[in-house]
Amino acid sequence: MSDGPPPLLSRLRERGWRLTAQRRAVVGALRGADVHLTADEVHRAAASVLPDVSRATIYNTLNELVSMGEVGEVVLGGRTRFDPNVTTPHHHLVCDRCGLIRDVPVADLGLGSGFGEAVTVDGAVFLPSRAELVIHGECADRRACDRRRESQTPSA
Ligand SMILES: [Zn+2]
Ligand SMILES: [Zn+2]
Repeated sequence: MSDGPPPLLSRLRERGWRLTAQRRAVVGALRGADVHLTADEVHRAAASVLPDVSRATIYNTLNELVSMGEVGEVVLGGRTRFDPNVTTPHHHLVCDRCGLIRDVPVADLGLGSGFGEAVTVDGAVFLPSRAELVIHGECADRRACDRRRESQTPSA
């Protein structure tokens, strides 16, 4: 049994990435499983620990993490989101009612890894390196889905 891949913060420490207070606040916002935050959401979370952090700093830090390959950039539910899970190839499930987003490891979908094997489509041979599949639907647990939906509706 493995403990799974190291989380973002450990990976960055290992690389010797200088962890300033701003960077630490951004990384802190991206902690945990099934995290897919927009830049604004990262900003809000970072500002809760570091009130003066600017949007520009958040954007720059996110872009740097993406270019380092430590954070993925995915478009889900029509918005660009930042995904710290770059160690497990995965697709996404999106609930169209409450907006829940879940990672689905590629292997769990039973589609095969799809990587490293040539795929032939109408005679054209293709070598896949990465796939992003978004599966839309609804939570089977309607009550939990309703609760999430209500908690996201602006009360004003
Ligand atoms: Zn994800
Ligand atoms: Zn739902």
